[in-house]
Amino acid sequence: MITVIKGRLINGVLDQPVENGLVAFEGNRILFAGPEDEYVIPVDASVYSAGDGTILPGFIDCHAHLTGSENAGEWANGRLLGDQLLGAAYQLGLLLDAGFTGLRDMSEAGLYLSRAVSRGILKGPRIVPGGKVLGITSGHVDFDPSVTVKHFNDNDHLSYLMDGIDGCVTGVREQFRQGARFIKICATGGVSSPTDRIDDVQFSPAELKAIVDEAKRHHTYVCAHCTGYEGAYQSILAGVECIEHGVMLTQREIDLMAEKNLTLVTTLWISLHVADLPGFPSWMREKTLLCAEGNRKTIEMARKAGIRIALGTDFSNSKNTPYLQLGREFEAMVDAGMTEMEAIKAGTVNAAYLMRMDDLGTLETGKLADITVTDQNPLSNISCLASAEHIKLVVADGCIVKNTL
Ligand SMILES: [Zn+2]
Repeated sequence: MITVIKGRLINGVLDQPVENGLVAFEGNRILFAGPEDEYVIPVDASVYSAGDGTILPGFIDCHAHLTGSENAGEWANGRLLGDQLLGAAYQLGLLLDAGFTGLRDMSEAGLYLSRAVSRGILKGPRIVPGGKVLGITSGHVDFDPSVTVKHFNDNDHLSYLMDGIDGCVTGVREQFRQGARFIKICATGGVSSPTDRIDDVQFSPAELKAIVDEAKRHHTYVCAHCTGYEGAYQSILAGVECIEHGVMLTQREIDLMAEKNLTLVTTLWISLHVADLPGFPSWMREKTLLCAEGNRKTIEMARKAGIRIALGTDFSNSKNTPYLQLGREFEAMVDAGMTEMEAIKAGTVNAAYLMRMDDLGTLETGKLADITVTDQNPLSNISCLASAEHIKLVVADGCIVKNTL
């Protein structure tokens, strides 16, 4: 059966909306997306109207950690994988509700959830999993120095510690063994880690090269968490294809990213607001003060250099970062100087590039039917993408998973 949604259309390709547009889909493929008068609606089609709202490609978050830990309950402090998985399965519904139909995830749970969604036994955004976040001992994801590295690696569902060339190759292969489709490393220190500084460089050049080479042998790429700049520089030289956060990048890294066609994944909402959020220890607060100003500069430099910018959130469904407001990242991008259309493309077509899915991220004939309808025009009010209450209809892989039109 053919389904048609009529209304203002932003297709992810054009810089202007189609004011009287429609999208038609059958199964999980788009049959037509364009001006209403160029498509004859079949008599037996089911037809929805977006009213004053806008039809967009389903949103994609390129920086997710589906650990589910915020909804894992209190038993064993919520650290058991089963509890975290069920917490994350619940969260998938919230993400759809907020209009997000795609995620690039970095966690152990994302591996299982990705397969469950594609098998059709769980409703959720399509997930491209990266497996665990890989870091050095004493680095950004070494959250618990009170246990051995082996104990940590056996029991932590977000991160994995690895050292030396052999250790790095083993760690990367372990992620592929579990089904990872890209690799995420920490190339610098970070805000949330107790044992390092933001500008610490983490992996050595030889370790970075071993990681990148291993990913290439698996026909995929490495993305690097970079808060400081020197670790970013070394990881770009080593061949990573994507910089996450990029809070403190300098012109040197920006120029090299442009030359090598790298992508920058924003996590701007957190950068811009982290210093004001309640509940952080004092050592973390000092680090957060550096973030907002640094990240605004980075975004400006990246735009000037023509670097592809993709939306990432780093939200965890905590009180400060609720999944029903995952779209706050669109607002933050505009707050940091991007145009509304640039922000929309960051969360759709540019994000699909990092998912390595050609048939995702735009509304065009033959593409996958992942569609989000909001109640207003985001080009005049970007906030209508920021909260689930404004998201009226969501289509994920051709299924209507939300409809309050
Ligand atoms: Zn992250």
